[in-house]
Amino acid sequence: MASVDSSLTLDVEQIRNDFPILKRKVNDKPLVYFDNAATSQTPQQVIDVIVDYYSRYNANIHRGVHALSQEATDAYEQARIKIQKHFNIPNAYQTLFTAGTTHGINIVASGFASILEAGDEVIVSALEHHSNIVPWQMLCEKTGAMLKVIPMLDNGTLDMQAFDALLSDKTKLVFVNHVSNALGTVNPIEEIIKKTHAVGGAVLVDGAQAAPHIKADVQALDVDFYVVSAHKMCGPTGVGMLYGKEKWLEKLPPYQGGGEMIDQVTFEKTTYAGLPHKFEAGTPNICGGIAFGAALDYMNAIGFERIAAYEHELLEYATAKLKSIEGLRIYGESSKKTAVVSFNIEGVHPYDMGTILDKLGIAVRTGHHCAQPIMDFYKIPGTVRASFAFYNTKEEIDSLVAGVERARNMLI
Ligand code: PLP
Repeated sequence: MASVDSSLTLDVEQIRNDFPILKRKVNDKPLVYFDNAATSQTPQQVIDVIVDYYSRYNANIHRGVHALSQEATDAYEQARIKIQKHFNIPNAYQTLFTAGTTHGINIVASGFASILEAGDEVIVSALEHHSNIVPWQMLCEKTGAMLKVIPMLDNGTLDMQAFDALLSDKTKLVFVNHVSNALGTVNPIEEIIKKTHAVGGAVLVDGAQAAPHIKADVQALDVDFYVVSAHKMCGPTGVGMLYGKEKWLEKLPPYQGGGEMIDQVTFEKTTYAGLPHKFEAGTPNICGGIAFGAALDYMNAIGFERIAAYEHELLEYATAKLKSIEGLRIYGESSKKTAVVSFNIEGVHPYDMGTILDKLGIAVRTGHHCAQPIMDFYKIPGTVRASFAFYNTKEEIDSLVAGVERARNMLI
């Protein structure tokens, strides 16, 4: 097991004190929360920001001259700048608030309906969440563009030779996740971006699963679009971020019409607001946006390098222990993985395993994880997925391993 640089060690007990939910019991057992890839937990520091917003300055933004509206506007726009800085986005106006990753992808996919033509090609990877498949299928139906798929290999990585063969001057867009939610594979997005640009295409990276573990630098990546959800990184649900290169954000039409996104409205013609408001119709999730900023403050105070090093230690510990269980297979064994272990035990349905683990207070996810093509590839109905965060411990992993062994003995 790789030793962790002492300067990167975490005081996990202290960190756990920040998360009130970790003190609760489920089925009379201490909660062991291993469903972090679905939604992470929220520290008190972020909960306090939410309570403070509704207790002191809840108001609509950008429209009021009164003090509450100005305070809410300032806090919301400051959060945008925190997100901008975090992802090294050149300008705040390229940092769009969304309702989450799904929303961000749909903004881009629907915008490309006015750009793509029949005969154009778009490329998706076999490792995608349904959110990064279905909007593009809908786009292809509208435009006559053709959807091509980068196949996956048995170890849960992408077949990059096949990707090379798919690229051509017909390739207009490639959309791929930075990290697979079902397997934890970290995809070679740098290579995908470079090669796609070389044939004149654009790349959207779904960063939903990377953002809690890896601090992406959108300028260094030279990516065209990057999307994330706050609720996977200690923030609230229903809020996220879409980054786009300026040339694309200027070119794409608005996704929705309504208040906030206009410049002038007459019945003859409406002109649109500039960025970012062109893509932000209606009253947004104001408190959510502010809390997203607070969540980034919280995670950055701990440090992403430290988080990644500790989570890697948890991953190695869990992988070794789980592998020693008879009949257990781990899916996705890329050498580059985030702290996700997706597994099955021969002869045991993942749902039954998840139900027994829940009785023991252990929260895992079971099923296809919104990635049915991956399950089809392995010819399985689903997996049991344990996904770790920086507030989890090796003792909790011991409880998981004991629970899996117990369930196995009950079910076989
Ligand atoms: N993409 C990936 C890789 C995900 O893991 C998820 C959520 O699990 C999504 C997209 C969708 O995120 P949201 O439901 O927050 O829009």
